[in-house]
Amino acid sequence: MAQTIFERLIDGEIPTEIVYQDDLVFAFRDINPKAPIHILIVPKKPIPRIAESTLDDQFLLGHLLLKAAHVAKVIGLEGTGYRLVINNGHDGGETVPHLHCHILGGRLMDWPPG
Ligand code: 5GP
Repeated sequence: MAQTIFERLIDGEIPTEIVYQDDLVFAFRDINPKAPIHILIVPKKPIPRIAESTLDDQFLLGHLLLKAAHVAKVIGLEGTGYRLVINNGHDGGETVPHLHCHILGGRLMDWPPG
């Protein structure tokens, strides 16, 4: 299967500002931010979307969320709050088929989302 743009960022093939990474996850700034702070955190394993994760991914998915909260704290969003978003499939607004969690902050979020 062809590499996604996120695999190319993880591999360093395309330069990006890395916010956090460890053996399992990679966080970087969204190229088209929807809030003053918009970071994406992705598993290095190229799972296409949450619907295609399996029980084998249980630890990885927990790690992804814990590190999303860690990144939000380090970036200074803990006091004001922030939103984590995972888009799944066409109607969910998914555009890159590599599981990613959006970390959005720096403004008051609307509810319900559009
Ligand atoms: P989705 O719509 O799939 O939930 O989110 C994909 C996100 O990836 C979008 O917010 C989009 O701006 C971001 N994105 C797409 N291509 C690139 C890229 O090459 N670099 C970075 N940093 N973000 C990207």
